[in-house]
Amino acid sequence: MKKGQENKQIPDHSYVPERPQKLSGPLDHVLQVLHILEKTYPDAHCALHFNSPFQLLVATILSAQCTDIRVNLVTERLFLSYPDADSLAEVDQTVLEDVIRSTGFFRNKAHSLIACARMIRDRHNGQVPSSLEELTELPGVGRKTANVVLGNAFQIPGMVVDTHVKRISFRLGWTKNTDPNKIEMDLGRILPEKKWVEASHLLIFHGRRICKAPVPICSECPVAPYCPKKGLKKSR
Ligand code: SF4
Repeated sequence: MKKGQENKQIPDHSYVPERPQKLSGPLDHVLQVLHILEKTYPDAHCALHFNSPFQLLVATILSAQCTDIRVNLVTERLFLSYPDADSLAEVDQTVLEDVIRSTGFFRNKAHSLIACARMIRDRHNGQVPSSLEELTELPGVGRKTANVVLGNAFQIPGMVVDTHVKRISFRLGWTKNTDPNKIEMDLGRILPEKKWVEASHLLIFHGRRICKAPVPICSECPVAPYCPKKGLKKSR
């Protein structure tokens, strides 16, 4: 973590109430890409460790600007003392900051986690709500975090647009937008709802391994025949 990084703001996840529209238009191209990615990454899954919706929510908030590996190391210790909303709602902020320091932005994250735990305790009986609207009302929870929790803790379709999904969906020509909320709507229109969660994992896996920023390895990419490589200036 660079000096002074802890004082920066957690990236904004502004709330947009609509869910993506239902699927429309021809799907062959998109489904073919997904099919190839399924074969390429059969183990694509949520890499964060958790034993409850609350723990996934905490891990996802901590994962902003941090690797999943680092978050898993931190939460292994964190959840021993604070496994649920009731316990985390009572923690002293400086104590929590110390535990999560290595994830970066630790002051903002600690503040959000405690406020979030208190709202879940006081407004939702200690249980994480399972609707996009209620999740995005929680402090520190935007659509990306809410969709991670919906899809992986509640098995409710949610399209997660992180930096990998944003980059690859643009290169593939699946969206012309750069705003994550608009990209989520675009992907929601062209992908079947039952594929949203899996598609998110597949694109994230692909982004970490092949379709990297700033230079993707197109020569090794299994979906290259289907990719218009939009916005790409350089590749390997
Ligand atoms: S062909 Fe290149 S730009 Fe297109 S998805 Fe593959 S790695 Fe990414």
